[in-house]
Amino acid sequence: MNQQKKNTIVVVGAGIAGLSAALRLSNSGHDVVVFEQNWMVGGCAGTYLRKHHKYESGATTLVGLEDYMPLGMIVRETGLNIQPVRLQIPMQIHFPGKEVLTRHESLEPWIEEAESFFKCKQAGFWKEAYGLADTVWRASTKYLDFPPANLKEALGSAMKFKPAEWQVLQKAFVSTRRWMQKSNLPLQGPFMDFVNAQLLITAQNDAENTNAAFGAAALAYPLFPNYYLPGGVGKLSEAMADLAMKRGVQFYLRTPIQSIRKASKGYVVQAEGHSIHAQQVVSAIPVNNLIELLGERPKGIRDVRTEDQLWSAFQTSFSVKQSLPFPALHHQIHLERPIPSLTGNTLFVSFSHPDDRERSPEGNLVVSVSTHINLPSEWNPDKKAEVESDILQVLRDRGFLNAQPDYVHSAALGSWQKWTGRAFGAVGGYPQIKGLLPWKMNTAYSGWPGLWLAGDTVYPGQGIPGAALSGWIAGKRCLK
Ligand SMILES: Cc1cc2nc3c(=O)[nH]c(=O)nc-3n(C[C@H](O)[C@H](O)[C@H](O)COP(=O)(O)OP(=O)(O)OC[C@H]3O[C@@H](n4cnc5c(N)ncnc54)[C@H](O)[C@@H]3O)c2cc1C
Repeated sequence: MNQQKKNTIVVVGAGIAGLSAALRLSNSGHDVVVFEQNWMVGGCAGTYLRKHHKYESGATTLVGLEDYMPLGMIVRETGLNIQPVRLQIPMQIHFPGKEVLTRHESLEPWIEEAESFFKCKQAGFWKEAYGLADTVWRASTKYLDFPPANLKEALGSAMKFKPAEWQVLQKAFVSTRRWMQKSNLPLQGPFMDFVNAQLLITAQNDAENTNAAFGAAALAYPLFPNYYLPGGVGKLSEAMADLAMKRGVQFYLRTPIQSIRKASKGYVVQAEGHSIHAQQVVSAIPVNNLIELLGERPKGIRDVRTEDQLWSAFQTSFSVKQSLPFPALHHQIHLERPIPSLTGNTLFVSFSHPDDRERSPEGNLVVSVSTHINLPSEWNPDKKAEVESDILQVLRDRGFLNAQPDYVHSAALGSWQKWTGRAFGAVGGYPQIKGLLPWKMNTAYSGWPGLWLAGDTVYPGQGIPGAALSGWIAGKRCLK
């Protein structure tokens, strides 16, 4: 029998971060209520059904399921039931001229492939990157009080740090470019283009702006087991929501929270048709959105970016009756020339698994193509059809599309705003920038008692495992 006083805890948003917080808070003896503005859970990592096919709302790749990684930790601690399939080849990269580089998961074959492709020695660099990334992943689930909220926590963590963890911390002060220079790697030409493009996938910035600790984890992303979820990435959020509900969490879908105001011993949370007095609140929406709901900025929110410091995304999805054109499901294409109206020079393409009968009928594939929109404020919605048609042309020219695509539809700023409510239609979290040391990032602490922060604008940042970890940390802080 739980002797604690029963509190009401509101979770704002049922993306991966909100669901992870809800799971951490479930079975805790408190009343936990999740509000989600959309009609389904998952946010940027959901899967939706249209015309007998299942499409990804955003994310397509999945890592972090090993025991010592954030999703592995959640599975271990809650018994979450998902059925991941490990990918043989995590990713392929397609250069102009149709040369293809395969990112093998095993380190030695990858080093052999990279050295022969770029014609330069790089074994030491990749071994170091893998070692650093491994330490980063392990530390992420070991130090759930990191980044420290106060001096006591900082000293507590520092006392426990192992030599390999100090080495990672040192790399947080060096740019990835500087680290490459010290490793005698070329700082221009195809290798540098490759590094910058790979960093853009997770760090959302280039080698100059991404510190070497984060850069190592980003570059080594395909060197850790990558998984496919039959039925789509959304199976993860669906399983998290189902389990949280079974463990007593209450969900309200299609119910946006409209304001959060300080009240005696907690907060009054106003949502459509609801007014709740909550002792604690977990905000699992971007900090820009939270500040709007609060009407002011709590001091503990250290990092708030403006519209033009953030990315939005252009995403085209369709189904097609064809077989898989390459052995991998995930591909990065380096464009011969940028697509007019977009600034990025790469596309990221993901196919559904050809055996995945939940996502498409036999012989069909579902395809997601995404790229960055650099300056959201300058995006012209009238260009959407033109950009979509340019993307399809690139796919035909580069051997990705061999038949007539069906149900082609694209998302840009407006769609993200509607689907996720995210301020400015900005997605992908806060990009890495020069000087962004871990203790300058937003943490679970808002600075207001009982108001906790999670989501991809809060440490550790972008991506499904990052958002899941931030939600878990916020939930843990709440119970502490
Ligand atoms: C195109 C694209 C591709 C990506 N690819 C990958 C990938 O391959 N692998 C990977 O790991 N990551 C990828 N990511 C990143 C990853 O999807 C996100 O970082 C992660 O899903 C963010 O989760 P979140 O919970 O922080 O935010 P969100 O997913 O945005 O969730 C926030 C939730 O809050 C809800 N909400 C907002 N405002 C309110 C309100 N006022 N009241 C109630 N509810 C509200 C929203 O509807 C949403 O459901 C990709 C992202 C995009 C956009």
